[in-house]
Amino acid sequence: MIGRRKRFYTIHPLINTMNIRQRVQALKEERNAVILAHNYCSNEVQDIADHTGDSLGLSIKASEVDEPVIVFCGVTFMAESAKILNPDKKVIIPEEDAVCPMANMCTGAQLDELRSREPGVKIIGYVNTSAESKARMDICCTSANAVKVVESMAGGDLLFVPDRNLGRHAASEAGVEMRLWDGFCPTHQAITLGMVEDLKQEHPDAVVMAHPECRPEVLEASDHIGSTSQMLDFAHGSEAKEFIVLTEQGLLHPLRSNNPLKTFYTPEAALCPVMKMTDIRSVLRALEEMGPEVVLDEDTIDRARGPLERMIALR
Ligand code: SF4
Repeated sequence: MIGRRKRFYTIHPLINTMNIRQRVQALKEERNAVILAHNYCSNEVQDIADHTGDSLGLSIKASEVDEPVIVFCGVTFMAESAKILNPDKKVIIPEEDAVCPMANMCTGAQLDELRSREPGVKIIGYVNTSAESKARMDICCTSANAVKVVESMAGGDLLFVPDRNLGRHAASEAGVEMRLWDGFCPTHQAITLGMVEDLKQEHPDAVVMAHPECRPEVLEASDHIGSTSQMLDFAHGSEAKEFIVLTEQGLLHPLRSNNPLKTFYTPEAALCPVMKMTDIRSVLRALEEMGPEVVLDEDTIDRARGPLERMIALR
């Protein structure tokens, strides 16, 4: 009896997951939809996606796909960017409460207030912001092209929002003076120098790769700094066999799939709860219900498109 019970509990969820995957696939074709997933999504979500990538890669992909429906697995600012770049498409986000806490650290109202006080300021905004905030920026950037974007704006009274760590890193790499908003990513901020030192001690031959959202002292202790896509390229091209990965754990999935003979370690703290809200059940439900849909007013879309397109031009 115990044995039969065990078989039921070990096999049933697997069959269920396979069924859900098949239903997602069938429904996706029926709805003429494309599924985009960020590198931080869970393994199962990345596996059902048509395209995975970082914010810049997915923003570009969103403007290239032919399908009229985009199911965006990630957090709300990413799905909003897809909508801004594709206003005629239906953009669906399976978990509408998946809001990046850093995006909430810099609101459109705060930027309006700032501009009324300092009309000459040029605002460079990380793409990890709401559509309302993007509508008030001069240019957006991602972690992949922040240095290039900052270089392109050199000379003015610059303010970088909202991520102080990425802003500091980009300013120093570009050799540009810039004020920084006091925002941060709680997931990357949770990675401490002590954690990095412990991992280095356990794996002395490992190369350390860090995302620029990490604390300055963590970046200083790293061998390579880059966006998730840049880390994927770096690990693939490197002759090293072991890597310490200082970013959200979801990146381990493509790193391990692309490099089966290499080993990757990451701190346990590097987990983003909002990126893990989407699972294959929520993707299936989104396709069944064709929602929740990203809805933005025309004025916000028109104002936010310029900063995003300027960002893509500097890819
Ligand atoms: S990893 Fe950080 S920046 Fe990315 S969605 Fe999570 S909280 Fe936001």
